[in-house]
Amino acid sequence: MIVILLGLIGAGKGTQAKMLVDSMNFLHIATGDLFRNAVKKQTKLGIEIEKYMNNGELVPDELTIKMLLDSLNSMNQDADLLLDGFPRTASQCVALDEALTTKYLAVDYAINIHVSEEILLERIAKRAEIENRKDDKPEIAKRRLTNQQIGLQEVMTYYTNADKLLEIDGVGNVEDIHQRILKQIQAEKINS
Ligand code: AMP
Repeated sequence: MIVILLGLIGAGKGTQAKMLVDSMNFLHIATGDLFRNAVKKQTKLGIEIEKYMNNGELVPDELTIKMLLDSLNSMNQDADLLLDGFPRTASQCVALDEALTTKYLAVDYAINIHVSEEILLERIAKRAEIENRKDDKPEIAKRRLTNQQIGLQEVMTYYTNADKLLEIDGVGNVEDIHQRILKQIQAEKINS
């Protein structure tokens, strides 16, 4: 099974990804984590992308797609995959589909964790205080949110057209949200 987890910053995507990995044994690919790691290690890619990340901008598709495909190719083809933070543009959706098709694989579902913008900005401000993340500073967080909203809309349209989009209410207790996601996945499995 290949599942994509979608959600704007502060939607709880990271937390829900961890819970899904624990409960369903997914292999987890998070492009944000891969990029942060590259920046930390100051690899060639890390140095190239640092400015985008620190400014709250998307890393260009070409670099992102290459990194994701390298990561996909290094993974066990039979494993269930949870993609977190990718795709974020229509071009990334197309590149992913093309790469999976060559392996006789396909995306099963794209799950969007929906939270209103007002609640997201409150959550991000709290996280900035606690974690001191450079890209969580209010003005940068707002820019990241705006950039992400544009991309998310493209990606949601793509998976709506493919009849693969599942919408989850992302407000409430983390365990309840996790159960909502599991329920949706189970319901889809039964219907398919
Ligand atoms: P995240 O932790 O998923 O919010 O990602 C942190 C940052 O990494 C983003 O603000 C982007 O700069 C970059 N990034 C992560 N995933 C992608 C992607 N699929 N496309 C472009 N940039 C990305």
